[in-house]
Amino acid sequence: MRYSKMLIPTLKEIPAEAEVISHTLMLRAGLIRKLAAGIYSLLPLGLSVTKKVEDIIREEMNRSGAQEVLLPTVQPAELWKESGRWEEYGKELLRFKDRHQREFCFGPTHEEVITDLIRKEIRSYRQLPLNLYQIQTKFRDEIRPRFGIMRGREFIMKDAYSFDCDETGADESYKKMYDTYCRIFERCGLRFKAVEAETGIIGGSFSHEFMVLADSGEEGVVFCNGCDYAANIDRAEIRIEEKGNEGEKKKMMMMKEIKKVNTPGRKTVEEVSRYLKVSPQDLVKTLIFETENGIIAGLVRGDHQINETKLKRFLDSNIMVLAGDETVKEVTGAPSGFAGPVDLNIAIFADQGVKGMQNFITGANEIDAHNINVNIGRDFEIKGYGDIRNVREDDKCPRCGKDIDIKRGIEVGHIFKLGTRYSQILRATYIDSKGKEQLIIMGCYGIGVGRTISAAIEQNHDENGIIWPMPIAPFQVFILPVDTKDTTVMERSEKIYNSLLDKKIDVLIDDRDDRPGVKFKDADLIGIPIQVIIGLKNLREGNIEIKIRRNGEILKWRVDTVIDKIMELI
Ligand SMILES: [Zn+2]
Repeated sequence: MRYSKMLIPTLKEIPAEAEVISHTLMLRAGLIRKLAAGIYSLLPLGLSVTKKVEDIIREEMNRSGAQEVLLPTVQPAELWKESGRWEEYGKELLRFKDRHQREFCFGPTHEEVITDLIRKEIRSYRQLPLNLYQIQTKFRDEIRPRFGIMRGREFIMKDAYSFDCDETGADESYKKMYDTYCRIFERCGLRFKAVEAETGIIGGSFSHEFMVLADSGEEGVVFCNGCDYAANIDRAEIRIEEKGNEGEKKKMMMMKEIKKVNTPGRKTVEEVSRYLKVSPQDLVKTLIFETENGIIAGLVRGDHQINETKLKRFLDSNIMVLAGDETVKEVTGAPSGFAGPVDLNIAIFADQGVKGMQNFITGANEIDAHNINVNIGRDFEIKGYGDIRNVREDDKCPRCGKDIDIKRGIEVGHIFKLGTRYSQILRATYIDSKGKEQLIIMGCYGIGVGRTISAAIEQNHDENGIIWPMPIAPFQVFILPVDTKDTTVMERSEKIYNSLLDKKIDVLIDDRDDRPGVKFKDADLIGIPIQVIIGLKNLREGNIEIKIRRNGEILKWRVDTVIDKIMELI
């Protein structure tokens, strides 16, 4: 392609709307433009990268034996009502009515539609297993779309669904997709980790997320330094340390008399512990949540953070919202920040780390007051203990006990073993070899195409711009004639351009009549891996300069060998 004919609107300034580097660079390099919150247009360079990622996905999915389909984006409400998700999905589901007042939604995912297709088309075990996938636009009405196409509302996704006769087959399908995903992200040039994850709104029995490690990542990822254990922070189990003798001694500690003390203006754990001259570990935090089964309290040790997703799973609750000031006042009689478990007339659940604590400090359900020497059993009851806190750097691996690391990651793929979550409710069955009707076992597998591109930029950039990994670069080679008015330079540039085109290389020639400085800046910004710099001085000596974008290395090659050398590099 010729730069002068292409729409590549590069920007010199950092756009105000951009919060992370990939968003900034996609705007600056002219890959995307915003239409509305979380809704972006892909410009030629952005679309080119998208197609490259899609091609890799398609090749690897086909290699795994999956078949491509294309399902509708607009889905009837009846199907979603049948699966129970019309209610469950909440406001992220974009709903609308057609001219006949029939309800529809714009698909955020396709479990219902694909299960409906399968229940109508599959009759016999002979037709299974099956894996169907599509690459298509989805819409999720995120409350806070951000980071450009990393967390957009409209986005391109590859989603696949597997259908098996039994658990063994379903596990094989899952494993096959796991391996396929590893190949896809490796081929995209990403450094990633597959981690155990939550199943969330998709449901099912277990799942893995494919996380690209980057500081801008929204998710916490926990890894073990000693074994393969890796998990999303919402999933990471807390290792319960054996207390040994010390624990025994603790158990024998005397319960002291409970007392209310004044803590004027002190609300946070840090403020209260400093004021009372104790360690945060001697406090117990009380958090009030609203659930579909009423208001509950969750307790964690003062130096721990409660994890709402874990609490939600522990209580098997669909709704878990931190109560607002009004509700807290209603339930505890005090403003937020002074809640405590004593005389609290709601169900109280505690983190397992609270078990065995004695003579601790809690809020007194009264402004500017805390209770000291609080004890479980004597002063209040706990309805259940669970693993409901965030893992910390000083926790140990739940599998092997070695040290762990916590890093930030961007979720680029997610695979789920669904089991019969959808086939049961939508009655997707087959007749087995003995003539008996059985439920189909399902799995589902997603890759965010835009996410993958954003994540690739987060991992591959420098202060001058993007550094595309070769397999997903919009072009492989960038030809930069330094002086477009010089016929020797232009003739040589055109010759190299055409030779590379003949060899089916994606090549962009900067034929703009611009200052070299502008061209060099744009070349670095849009990040094409190989820059071929054609200047008069070098040409006169029979040389051409090659700049490797990734490390800035400059190579000088003879004019007659340059094509072969470029082919070798690619
Ligand atoms: Zn371990």
